[in-house]
Amino acid sequence: MGEEKTTFENARQRLNAAMEHVDFPSEVIERLKYPKSSLRVSIPVRMDDGSLKTFTGFRVRYDDTRGPTKGGIRFHPQVDLDEVTSLAFWMVFKCAVVDLPFGGGKGGVIVDPKELSLLELERLSRGYIDAIADFIGPDTDIPAPDVYTNPMIMGWMTDEYNNITRHKEPSVITGKPLELGGSRGRDSATGRGGYFVTRELEKQLGIGPGSTVAVQGFGNAGYWNALFLSEAGYKVVAVSDSKGAIYQPNGLDVKSVYQFKQQESTLANAYCHGSVCEVRDHEVITNEDLLALDVDFLVPAALENAITAKNAGTIKAKALLELANGPVTPEADKILFEKGIHVLPDILANAGGVTVSYFEWVQNRNGFYWGSEEVDDRLEKIMRQESATIWAFAQERGIDLRTAAYAHSLSRLSSAITAKGTKDYFHKINTGSYKAVSA
Ligand code: NAD
Repeated sequence: MGEEKTTFENARQRLNAAMEHVDFPSEVIERLKYPKSSLRVSIPVRMDDGSLKTFTGFRVRYDDTRGPTKGGIRFHPQVDLDEVTSLAFWMVFKCAVVDLPFGGGKGGVIVDPKELSLLELERLSRGYIDAIADFIGPDTDIPAPDVYTNPMIMGWMTDEYNNITRHKEPSVITGKPLELGGSRGRDSATGRGGYFVTRELEKQLGIGPGSTVAVQGFGNAGYWNALFLSEAGYKVVAVSDSKGAIYQPNGLDVKSVYQFKQQESTLANAYCHGSVCEVRDHEVITNEDLLALDVDFLVPAALENAITAKNAGTIKAKALLELANGPVTPEADKILFEKGIHVLPDILANAGGVTVSYFEWVQNRNGFYWGSEEVDDRLEKIMRQESATIWAFAQERGIDLRTAAYAHSLSRLSSAITAKGTKDYFHKINTGSYKAVSA
């Protein structure tokens, strides 16, 4: 029955298991039950044919105890408040997993961007920022790219924010083009972060160079991860996009598959309209077939709820790397755990993106920019360190990696929330048994 729950209910359910492994006051959970604020906006856009069309957008700031809220903007026809709230919730825990001084937020617009011209896309992107400008800012809420948004769109959005505030404020949005204050390594950061998590734990997971890999979702996160894994000697045998999947048991040439997808694009600089299915020398399969392939390592890198109680039983991989947010439902998690399949959870696996977004924010605020090596080295250190800690905790308690990651993150969040005072603290103040300042 759990499959009928909303994505947000599923997201919150993850906390229950983690709570048993962290010692914290109950009011921490009370604080994390609801988003801090949610905004719904209407965005009127002048279309190329002269007509006016109104789009609906959202921005949710879930919790900002550890710092300004941080999270991407999604352009997708299935965006709704439940999805954006869930994504904002995950961002809270993700930022804490990698110890960034950020809370969690997220945004989205209900639109199929592939149906817009580039100029319509620019007007929509600017219109969205006009609508949420009072809600965001470098010290309050900092957007970034997510599904079907990219550096060019982040550039338009930052420009619009600067026009509104009448000064240059690059740190308001991350994932910008390099020329407009972006960070080196941000485009590849999510895939690279997931790659470091994999390399850190590969011995424990029983995989390594030579292992076969299938990647669902060949976009920003999926492509870069597939590339780094294949460069390290893993054999990427299948990739997919929204139109379908391709399978080549001898291994695909990741770069040329991606180049082909780009070439076929009619909006080459914005979206891939070409599909991986058009690449030659492969078998065309469905996304469902891809998930059930007999591979060592499976990388869901598309959308949430890809693996449910219905198809979890068909998965044969030894381990999963969740580059997408929320690709496995709680019921599917249980099935995978019982089958002995390790799931490297989203809040760790895809945290490389927000980590380099943090680096971008730091560089923007300092006006001093780092080289690629510095970005990659700092990212590697963080991803490997947190992965090792989470693995050790999971082993010590005999729990799955997701529960361990949530417990690790919850303990950091709990320290920050309780540092502002708890029931116990205020009770002592009221009864005079506690002096806030020593004499
Ligand atoms: P993207 O727009 O670059 O790529 C998405 C890819 O998924 C495209 O290739 C698309 O064709 C494919 N896709 C869409 N629906 C599909 C379906 N039903 N089956 C198979 N493929 C499908 O997006 P992205 O930035 O790579 O994001 C992918 C996932 O990674 C999302 O869950 C996102 O929230 C998560 N993520 C991204 C980042 C980042 O920095 N980009 C960071 C953290 C998490």
